[in-house]
Formats: sequence, structure tokens, C-alpha cells
Amino acid sequence: MNSKVPLPGLDKAHIVERDQHPISRKQIAPNALKVLYRLDEAGFHGYLVGGGVRDLLLGNKPKDFDIATNATPEELKGLFRNSRIIGRRFKIVHISFGREIIEVATFRAHHDAQNEFGDQEHRRKIRGLDSAHSSSGMILRDNVYGGIDEDALRRDFTVNALYYTIDQFKVLDFSSGMEDLRTRQIRIIGDPEERYKEDPVRMLRAIRFSAKLNFTIEQLTRRPFKDLAHLLESISPARLFDETLKLMTGGHAVETFAQLCEFHLGRYLFAPTLEALQQADSTWCNLVDLALANTDTRLAAGKSVTPAFLFAALLWPVLNLRLAQLTTPGATLHQVFILAANQTILKQLDYTAIPKRFTAASREIWELQYRLQRRNRRSIESVFAHPRFRAAYDFLLLREDSGENLDGLGQWWTDFQIGDTKHQMEMINAVSKPRKRRRRRSKLNPPSVPD
Ligand code: ATP
Ligand code: MG
Repeated sequence: MNSKVPLPGLDKAHIVERDQHPISRKQIAPNALKVLYRLDEAGFHGYLVGGGVRDLLLGNKPKDFDIATNATPEELKGLFRNSRIIGRRFKIVHISFGREIIEVATFRAHHDAQNEFGDQEHRRKIRGLDSAHSSSGMILRDNVYGGIDEDALRRDFTVNALYYTIDQFKVLDFSSGMEDLRTRQIRIIGDPEERYKEDPVRMLRAIRFSAKLNFTIEQLTRRPFKDLAHLLESISPARLFDETLKLMTGGHAVETFAQLCEFHLGRYLFAPTLEALQQADSTWCNLVDLALANTDTRLAAGKSVTPAFLFAALLWPVLNLRLAQLTTPGATLHQVFILAANQTILKQLDYTAIPKRFTAASREIWELQYRLQRRNRRSIESVFAHPRFRAAYDFLLLREDSGENLDGLGQWWTDFQIGDTKHQMEMINAVSKPRKRRRRRSKLNPPSVPD
């Protein structure tokens, strides 16, 4: 621990000593600790940072542990056999321990667009040069390494820029992170506009953390949202999908969705839904609200949620509006449905990507809605055996709960599932039309012609 080169920027930290904060080593994932100790033995500086430290300080269970270090990705690769470098925009190293992955990033320096290739003095601590901005100031590549103080200042929010070290178990604060944790505020580091121009997704992240932690978004931090929301158009649909998933499956989808709408950001992720909801009847609004609330409840109970179900619900109003608008003479009901489903999904793909396996499953959930209604022997059996039956049944209940009158269909399927085989057969017989007996026509007695 002692033969290390001194870490640039440490002197800028406000230090919170071990007895001044509640974090104990027992709460930290053993593999994250392993990485910190290995870095230390190899003469590097390693810190726990980000959500892990923030959540521990708040007394919450962290989702994962991120580590920041002065070792470069290549040095990390040499140090950990079980590691690989990922990302281009931000090179980070994933160290795998079985299924657990610890993410390790090298301290980054802030670099502004004007200063890109000049001002050597400004870069005296920088050990690698690999950065790029777009003409609008957006960071395209960010692999310029620096001291820990610089690393702290290029993080998004003050509460995400707290560092925990195994060297006397201190917490280091380079901005107002501890104070903002105390007053429960999400505050962006640096000039808000500039930081959102560098990376517009930070606006979405502010909302995600505010909803998750029940923090308020500090006034200057939220002020530019309305004017800069449009910058989200320049973010790739793939990244917006990732962010949307985090927003919707963080356990606070209801609050998050409300805040996205309140702060004019929602339409950059969910424009088709929001437009459809404006024209739709209240049943569909209820359905979206209920789907979000159910998502939160399921997650709170430790159950899983699938993006396919979530998108099926969010896009249900869009699908139904499309179905009502389509005029396709001569087409079968099924053909119209396929067309409307395609158009609905294509509309959403203009905003967020959705991997094909999820869109395929969303379509199945929709399609099964019709098949759940069509109750004859063959269809009941095939629907019940369908791998997506459970999701489609849950969706059916959601439709009823949101006010759609389906003549007790949900209850019928509930009874069907809990019944034994005999009961199921009785239920099938009760709703199936009796099979017509094929009568053999006798050549001698031709059918009588009705008058
Ligand atoms: P979560 O609990 O969701 O994991 P987190 O704060 O750990 O929250 P991550 O996305 O895991 O969020 O990122 C880890 C850390 O990296 C953040 O806490 C923040 O310090 C930094 N970070 C992540 N994304 C950005 C960004 N777009 N701009 C600046 N800093 C970022
Ligand atoms: Mg994290």
C-alpha cells in the first residue's frame, strides 16, 4: 500500500473518516473487495464509486459495485486474467467472477471541446489522449485519463461522485455529494447546460435517480430540461432502449413515467404512446398506468418483469388506434391485425430500439388476446399450451382491470387454470358449440330443398 505513486487530485477531496459514515466492508460484494485489494497490492489506487457508495450511504442495498482506478484498461487486463475491455466511447474493463461482473473504469479527465488538442499544461496529468466531441458538444469518445479530482468532476451527479477506499475505509467527496445526500437532492456537477450537451442522457438519469431515491431534482439541474430535451434525438435508439429499460424496471416506473412527462422528456422515448393516449378513451390510459404500477409491484415482490409485456402495454393504445383507423377492404381480421401490429412497432422503433425477441413476444401477447376470446375446443387447448399463455392471460386481466368489459373472460380463464382435467373438459364443453354430426347422405333420399 505504501510504495504507490501519489494519486493526483487527492488533496482536493473532502474526507469523511470511517467513524463519520455508515459503510462497513461487510456490505460490499466480496468480489468488488477482491478487486480493490488486488489493485492495491499491484501498486494502483482503486476506489468504489457511483451507485454502490451512494446506496450504501443511504442504507439501501446497492444494485452493483463500480470501481474507479488509476490503472489503465490495458494494465487492468494484465492484472486480471478474467477481464476484458469493452466499449469504445468509454473504455471500461469487465472483470468476471462466475456470473458476477465488476465494472472497472480508469479515472477520466474532463476535456472541453475548445480544449481538445491544445493546452498541454491543462493535461499534465493525462496519460492517454483519446477523445472526441461532435459539433454540438456531445462527447463521442472519452478515454482521456486524469486524476481522481478530475474523474469526480466529470461524473454526472454529486451523489454519484463519492469514492470509498479500503485505505482506512474513508469516503472522499469532491463536490457536495454528502450534503446533497443529506438534503436528498439530485444535483448535476458543473454547468448544467454544458453537461447535458455533452451527454443528453444525463437528463433521463436525473429523473431515474430522483424517482428511485425519492430525491428532488435541484432547480438549476432541472431548469434546462425543457429547452434541451430535443438533444435526446441525437442519441442512438439502442442506447435509448437501454436507458428506457433502466427507467421502467428500476421499481419506480409510475413515478418515473410521471416525471418524464412533467419534464417534457417523455416524448423522446414514448411519443407514439403519448400521442395515442391523447386521443384514446380512459380505458387505455388506465391500462398504461396499471401496467406501470404492476411492474413496480412485481419488482417489489422480487418477481421478474419482461420488456415484452411492458412494451405490449405501452403500445396497446397505439395498436388499437391503428386498428380503428385502418381501412383495408377485403382483408381478414388477422391480416389487419398483422398490419397494425407492424406499424405500431415500427413507430416505436423511431424512438427506442427494441430487440427482436421482445417485439416478437409483444406481438404474441397481442395476438393471443384474440385467441383467448375465441373459445372453441381446439383453440382453448392450443392457447393454453402456448408458451406465452401466462403473459397473455395477465394482459387480459390488465385489460379488464382497466375497465374493458370482456364478459368475464378473465374469470373464465382463471377458473380454467385452477380446475382439474375433468373440470376443464366440462368448461370446454360448456362453451364449445356442439359438434355437428356429419350425416351420410343417402343417394336414395336426397336432402330436402327448403321452400
Ligand atoms: P445504478 O444504481 O443504477 O447502478 P449508478 O449511479 O451506479 O446507478 P451507473 O450507470 O452504474 O449508475 O454508472 C456508474 C457511475 O458512473 C455513476 O454513478 C456516475 O458516477 C458515472 N456515470 C454513469 N453514466 C454517466 C454519464 N452519462 N455521465 C457522467 N457520469 C456517468
Ligand atoms: Mg452502478
